[in-house]
Amino acid sequence: MRWTTTLFLLLTVLLGGCSSSRSKPGWAIALHGGAGTLSKTSPTHEQATYRESLERALREGVERLERGESAIDVVQAVVMVLEDDAHFNAGKGAAFNEQGKHELDASIMDGGTLRCGAVAGVRTVKNPIGLARLVMDRTKHVLLMGDGAEQFADAMNVPRVPNDYFSTPKRREMLDEVLRERAQQRSDAATNRHATYGTVGCVVRDAQGNLAAATSTGGLTGKRFGRVGDSPIIGAGTYADAHAAVSCTGTGEEFIRHGIARSVSARVAFAGQSINRAAHHAVFETLRPDDGGLIAIDAQGNIAAVYSTEGMYRAWATQAGTFKVAIFEEESCD
Ligand code: ASP
Repeated sequence: MRWTTTLFLLLTVLLGGCSSSRSKPGWAIALHGGAGTLSKTSPTHEQATYRESLERALREGVERLERGESAIDVVQAVVMVLEDDAHFNAGKGAAFNEQGKHELDASIMDGGTLRCGAVAGVRTVKNPIGLARLVMDRTKHVLLMGDGAEQFADAMNVPRVPNDYFSTPKRREMLDEVLRERAQQRSDAATNRHATYGTVGCVVRDAQGNLAAATSTGGLTGKRFGRVGDSPIIGAGTYADAHAAVSCTGTGEEFIRHGIARSVSARVAFAGQSINRAAHHAVFETLRPDDGGLIAIDAQGNIAAVYSTEGMYRAWATQAGTFKVAIFEEESCD
């Protein structure tokens, strides 16, 4: 090869690198507050309170990303805001199990390192996602459950609350309704499934290109004591690697059965599908109608928010200036 050609190629690589870093996609963020929404016909002022909550959480994420925080720190902070907001079925406002108690699940994953942490069936931890992060950072394990997770919380000095801190009148009404229907139909499968989906989650691509995902939930209303859904199961309700970050909401058992969150990143990585195509495949071709939805983000910051229910509380923003909140609207994230 002549030296001029070599020089030309070298310059192309160097300049190409510079120009691609100039046009490098910036940060991007999406969050959800569950695929079990108010009905489309509910009063506008009720819908407006959810929109305000979603906007507040999104703003928290955007401000942190603008300050240069990492994807993993941002997903945790945003999920904490949603956990503290009684509108959603995670932290304060969590669903009741069939015994009238709360058992909470959460997980978090860093796409760059595949480090992850999760807790299941915690009863007194104010912010389960914070404890999941500590499982990731301070132990060699991935998932701690029940008493063991509570004991770990003692050791980590995280904020604790009595179990009824999580209770709200709205969730109590939902439990009563579920138990009433169950008694009438003598089955625990006959309940209006998606009325109870309210899990929260967040996925982020930070300015450095790192991906992360986090999910937190009170689980399904009227669930059996000890039941664990998909939200704390890495690969089912939450997943992040170098290709995609995913957080799910819906009938946890189905998301576990099909390893939904991991299946989305695998479709991007191995089948070369777009994040949108991969998300649609999971929601409409793998899951059953009405099973729920998910949010996902890829390494370029493309966002997908896909659901088979009437709506999904969701919001997303990008460094390029997008800032949107939606419940029912058929809005694409492109
Ligand atoms: N996926 C959650 C679970 O099964 C429920 C939800 O999304 O609201 O525990």
